[in-house]
Amino acid sequence: MDFNDTPEEAEFRAEARTFLDKHVRPLKPGETAGGVLERDDPEIVKQAKEWQACKKDNGWACLTWPKEFGGRAVASNLNVVWNQEEGKYATAANIFGIGIGMLGPTIMAHGTDAQKSQHLERMARGDDVWCQLFSEPSAGSDLAGLRTSAVKDGDDWLLNGQKIWTTGAQFSEWGMIVTRTDPNVAKHAGLTYFIVDMKSPGIEIRPIKQINGDSGFNEVFFSDTRVPDSNRVDAVGNGWAVALTTLMNERSSIGAGGGGMRAEDLIRLAQDCTLNGRPAIEDSAVRQKIANFYVNASGLKYTGYRTLTALSRGTTPGPESSIGKMVGAPMAQELGSFATELMGITGSQISGPQETYLGSPGLRIAGGTDEILRNILAERVLRLPPEPRMDKKVAFREIPTAPPGK
Ligand SMILES: Cc1cc2nc3c(=O)[nH]c(=O)nc-3n(C[C@H](O)[C@H](O)[C@H](O)COP(=O)(O)OP(=O)(O)OC[C@H]3O[C@@H](n4cnc5c(N)ncnc54)[C@H](O)[C@@H]3O)c2cc1C
Repeated sequence: MDFNDTPEEAEFRAEARTFLDKHVRPLKPGETAGGVLERDDPEIVKQAKEWQACKKDNGWACLTWPKEFGGRAVASNLNVVWNQEEGKYATAANIFGIGIGMLGPTIMAHGTDAQKSQHLERMARGDDVWCQLFSEPSAGSDLAGLRTSAVKDGDDWLLNGQKIWTTGAQFSEWGMIVTRTDPNVAKHAGLTYFIVDMKSPGIEIRPIKQINGDSGFNEVFFSDTRVPDSNRVDAVGNGWAVALTTLMNERSSIGAGGGGMRAEDLIRLAQDCTLNGRPAIEDSAVRQKIANFYVNASGLKYTGYRTLTALSRGTTPGPESSIGKMVGAPMAQELGSFATELMGITGSQISGPQETYLGSPGLRIAGGTDEILRNILAERVLRLPPEPRMDKKVAFREIPTAPPGK
């Protein structure tokens, strides 16, 4: 591909910079933008909502969304240009990624007209934060094994069960949930998808304390929680197809994302830190390590350009977006670990490198673990034989891991 911007991309980039320069300041060297780790702070939620509203008012929110839903209907390559530029500025933490990147497109594809007009414009403006209530204690990679039940009761549904790792549930106005409505059919066939008001009676949100002291995600318990049938997304029993729409958008938004510390930041850090009384950058072992990171990061960057090329040609990116996360997440972990070590005693403070280090194990799990991404590459790219899936056609209640009577 041509690594330079097309005239259209260059014009869009310049327009984006003009807007950003007017409203936010560029990041200082070594500084990272507000990220996932700070998300349990109400002040950050407020700032994030203000920044989202500012983007919306100026035509920079939800760029790929259709205009009728408050977006700008730009092609995905221009959205990548915007992300690259916004990433250079000290903006508030993005707490809208799950809603705007994954749940909004799901409502557009499967929601009713009433659901679209009630939620999409507010989601785009950042009026409401959304969370994704998918994972359960025994249903993560195998999402179709979930047990939270929804039982019809008049015009409502009654939800009972537990979700886990629900990012941002503590400050979300709305959530999207997949539930089991029929345990008598095969596990993928008995699921139904709902929009749930997170302030409904019968919802208990318990924060999970993380290694850095924050609580970005939560356990969420449902006890006879009432959800009106008008909040059902798509047909009863069609929840798996709806969930796949969400997950496909999740993979592409994670694959496209960057964030965290970069190899360039490591060079700057090694210039500032000392080793045996000399700047660490002068140590040959340190230089070699940095060179290795730099080479790997360049490989990732150019693989990312393949995704950009596919997007700018209007085609869907292939396996390269999975490779980006499969290689990028372990690399972020190594890089954060090395940078923290390089800082010596000051590495024990919460700082950019330490945030990268503490956040990276989660990155290797969220949106598909390393193993699941390898399975995807093995089965869909290398065309190796698929994993045996013995429970695919068995009624959910017959699967030994399903709870008795469910
Ligand atoms: C930072 C972060 C944020 C998250 N946010 C949310 C959220 O907002 N909402 C939400 O619903 N969930 C969220 N999750 C949960 C996430 O989707 C799950 O953790 C993930 O799907 C993995 O599921 P699990 O933890 O149950 O692990 P399991 O699926 O139990 O996997 C355990 C181990 O077994 C391996 N394994 C499982 N199946 C296979 C297989 N078939 N072949 C080979 N190996 C296998 C896995 O790779 C892993 O190493 C978040 C997770 C993280 C880390």
